Amino acid sequence: MDKKRKIGIGIAAVLLALALGGAAWYCSSSGDGKTGGEKPLAEGTATEEKDDEEEKQDEETEEEAPDEEPSEGEEEISSEEENGGSTNSGSSQNTGDSYPRPAGTSVVSNPESITVLVNKANFLPEGWAPSDLVSVGGGQQLRAEAATALNSLKAAAKADGYTFNVISGYRTKETQISLYSNYMAQDPEGAPYLSAYPRSSEHELGLAMDISPDWSLHYDLLETGLGKWMTAHAHEYGWILRYPEGKTGVTGYVFEAWHYRYVGKSLAAEIKSSGLTLEEYYGSI
Ligand SMILES: [Zn+2]
Repeated sequence: MDKKRKIGIGIAAVLLALALGGAAWYCSSSGDGKTGGEKPLAEGTATEEKDDEEEKQDEETEEEAPDEEPSEGEEEISSEEENGGSTNSGSSQNTGDSYPRPAGTSVVSNPESITVLVNKANFLPEGWAPSDLVSVGGGQQLRAEAATALNSLKAAAKADGYTFNVISGYRTKETQISLYSNYMAQDPEGAPYLSAYPRSSEHELGLAMDISPDWSLHYDLLETGLGKWMTAHAHEYGWILRYPEGKTGVTGYVFEAWHYRYVGKSLAAEIKSSGLTLEEYYGSI
């Protein structure tokens, strides 16, 4: 499929999703487009709690795929948890829902980590959800650390004359199922480039956001003043553009000018300076 057709399909599918799934995904119920509902947030708690939660998650993950790596799971988890790419490999398990994890994919063992890699090959554990979600305005939520970083980002942008809204933050698996189903109904071939299979969306992590100067997705966002500002400064607050132009072959998604992922300042700076996607970065270290 050529790029123009993909983008055309993308626009059509996004519009369809907005029309069909709008109530849950795209909330325009509040917010003035500038400071919508921002609240002061406690800092630093998410990171400190990470280790305990990761250990707990390790156990849950092993329960999910007990036959695949009965003895090596612990080693793999401890050696890889720093780079966020830790996984337990294994084949699909039919959990009885309509969207079982596809064969050949893995389950991440460290979903609590802000640097975890979740993508088409690395799924969230069944039943996992963030425990520290907070409101970021507009009916949207992010994990506490990402929300704090968002507030800093928005304040810095505003100081330079730019404002934006988070039009999609955390999504439940049910919301992701609804979105993905709508895309699939419209275009089964193109849908996987536009929407994540349930349990593989960064939005389910609570660490990703779709931003807009208004309340619509803009494919030309990076060409605007706001987009240029984000390109120059988002990493300074821990955010990276997750699905850049020309990287569909790596990320599996079309260019999404609006989708930013929180990975923390350190990793964001490395990603920014390297010019790599998260997939490429983890593959390169
Ligand atoms: Zn997104």
